[in-house]
Amino acid sequence: MNFETIPHPSPTPADEREAAIADPGFGKVFTDHMVTIDYDEDKGGWHNARIGPREPIALDPAASVLHYAQEIFEGMKAYKHPDGSLALFRPEANARRFNESARRMAMPEIPEDLFLDAVKLAVKTDADWMPPVEGGSLYIRPFMFASEAFLGVRPAKQYKFVVILVSSGNYFKGGVNPVKIWVSQDYVRAAPGGTGAAKTGGNYAASLVPQAEAIEHGCDQVVFLDAVEKKWIEELGGMNLFFVRKDGSVITPPLTGTILPGITRDSLIAMLTEEGLEVREEPYSIAQWREEAESGELLETLACGTAAVVTPVGTVASPAGEFTIGTGGIDQMAQKMREKLTGVQNGAVEDRHGWVVRV
Ligand SMILES: *Cc1c(COP(=O)(O)O)cnc(C)c1O
Repeated sequence: MNFETIPHPSPTPADEREAAIADPGFGKVFTDHMVTIDYDEDKGGWHNARIGPREPIALDPAASVLHYAQEIFEGMKAYKHPDGSLALFRPEANARRFNESARRMAMPEIPEDLFLDAVKLAVKTDADWMPPVEGGSLYIRPFMFASEAFLGVRPAKQYKFVVILVSSGNYFKGGVNPVKIWVSQDYVRAAPGGTGAAKTGGNYAASLVPQAEAIEHGCDQVVFLDAVEKKWIEELGGMNLFFVRKDGSVITPPLTGTILPGITRDSLIAMLTEEGLEVREEPYSIAQWREEAESGELLETLACGTAAVVTPVGTVASPAGEFTIGTGGIDQMAQKMREKLTGVQNGAVEDRHGWVVRV
């Protein structure tokens, strides 16, 4: 599909852009352009692909996303390599997952090539927004929502696919700090048969109250237990977990449909295996977490996702009290995995898996 180019009437002047990306933080310095593709069941599906100025989207007040929340998204990054080229990390995995989310939310799939073309076009067009800071990236947010004006409850017939970019600084200004985690007691993120494996906005809406509770208890993030037994560790609001043990094994919760299948998770399974560790996808209980942390059997707990890469969990808190993992600081495997993964992404470490895709 060809993308129409709609010229920007007034792109951000270079000096303003440079000031904005010098210390962009996360999630607020948006670039000048956006890609949009429309979907209409009655017009043969996907059409009207274009790149143009980033601008508000006009929506009918009855647009079904506003009522029944048919919405999915992806989160990925473009990195600058030492030779100046731009690269994506496993973008075809994001395209595939986007379509898995679409199927669960009764939304149309988008051809993977079209998804990838849209992402690459957005990155190329706004490449000047790459922040010139170590650990900086262009964070890419592809998303799709139901735009049809109709209040009956059924899958919509019209959708919009959009790609926007955010200039992002190092997530860890001043170094990586271990996070403190609150074990949610009253809330679950996902139940068997629910939407936990789909990257859909509603999962995040549902996580905000427990996340606020975590902050009230002096924690950074919340960890969710399974909905049935309230016993098994699932994941954080937006990161998967790995438990690194003294006997050389690593446990990560299995993908049973209630956990988001992270691409960082999948990459870490491969990388930890290469370290000679035995990675097992099996349930790990909250009781086991505490016991193994206290006995010293558990060396580290790693939280992972695109935004924060690999972050150690230092302390776990619940009404039953707190426990500390390992040294409570940044231990060996967290540091090693973090450096290796960011190294591959930034082009400093050899990409032996074919994970890196040039834009
Ligand atoms: C996106 C996401 C992750 C991490 O996935 P990555 O592909 O590694 O970025 C983990 N959990 C949830 C709930 C997510 O939405």
